[in-house]
Amino acid sequence: MFDIVIVGAGPAGITAGIYAKRAGKNVLVIERAIIGGQVASIGEIENYPGFSKVEGYVLADAFRKQAKSLGVEFVSDVMTDFKVQKNKKIVVGKKQNYGAKVVIFAMGANSKELDVEGEKDFVGKGVSYCATCDGNFFKNKDVVVVGSGESAVASALYLLSICKSVSIISKNPELKLKSYPKTILEKLKNVQLYFNSHVTKINGDQFVESVEIDRQNEPIKADGVFVAIGRTPDTLMLKGKVDLDEKGYIKTDEHMRTSLEGVFACGDVSNIDVKQIVTATATGAIAATEAIKLLSRK
Ligand SMILES: Cc1cc2nc3c(=O)[nH]c(=O)nc-3n(C[C@H](O)[C@H](O)[C@H](O)COP(=O)(O)OP(=O)(O)OC[C@H]3O[C@@H](n4cnc5c(N)ncnc54)[C@H](O)[C@@H]3O)c2cc1C
Repeated sequence: MFDIVIVGAGPAGITAGIYAKRAGKNVLVIERAIIGGQVASIGEIENYPGFSKVEGYVLADAFRKQAKSLGVEFVSDVMTDFKVQKNKKIVVGKKQNYGAKVVIFAMGANSKELDVEGEKDFVGKGVSYCATCDGNFFKNKDVVVVGSGESAVASALYLLSICKSVSIISKNPELKLKSYPKTILEKLKNVQLYFNSHVTKINGDQFVESVEIDRQNEPIKADGVFVAIGRTPDTLMLKGKVDLDEKGYIKTDEHMRTSLEGVFACGDVSNIDVKQIVTATATGAIAATEAIKLLSRK
């Protein structure tokens, strides 16, 4: 029986672990893959304060070393289910079950992929899933954004101020501008729009050079392809146990509390708006601090 069990060892889970351990709690972090989460797979990071430029795996390793030096315990396992028994929470793992007074979910979210030829080959070599993260590497270059929703529009607007040209390739006949005013189209006037179009192939040698779509023979010249067709949190096993939003993200309040007492969520798996390393660490700190307060009240 642990005071706090944290599921996921990305920046959110690791930070929560550091805060919990430094407060003297008996804490365990469960990770199914690599300690460091998505950060370990990022090329260069330029927007995490304190590091003007840092390789993802270097930052991930620094997170891991700091947590381990403070005595945070990690276990390699996959959460497959979650149960509540009276005052006890049980994280069901593939290898074993973990009982806890408090659970913090920090499982992140995965970008949806296009699943076309060339996409996997050029990840980090022109294919990106995050304009805020990687846009700056495409200064004065030609880029395409794939998607129709708000994240595609936000990506295109962000890239417009950095890149030489921005095109949007959308499978729909129009962009979905739910919360944007229609005047946003004026701002997008310098964006080349390809509607009713599906990406069929991403071409290149060392790096991306062009993108093929089904509605024209000529490939579109591009140095970068930003895929913005949504993200999916892996929260199906939590359905009916904690409140999720319509996209499956865990609903939290400003204290990172979920709808179930003693259960918190932080980082990309929660319904925070900005999903970045800095917000993952920040919300990890909030979740752990609130968890510690709850434990001392009890
Ligand atoms: C290509 C790319 C580039 C990026 N660049 C930047 C950047 O430059 N700057 C920036 O601030 N952000 C960047 N981001 C976003 C940033 O990486 C994320 O916002 C951040 O990692 C979220 O942290 P997290 O701890 O919430 O989740 P994650 O980092 O996703 O960590 C979650 C962890 O939980 C584990 N997990 C999931 N489910 C289970 C389970 N059932 N059982 C056990 N473990 C589980 C996962 O294996 C993972 O290790 C980038 C993301 C990508 C993909």
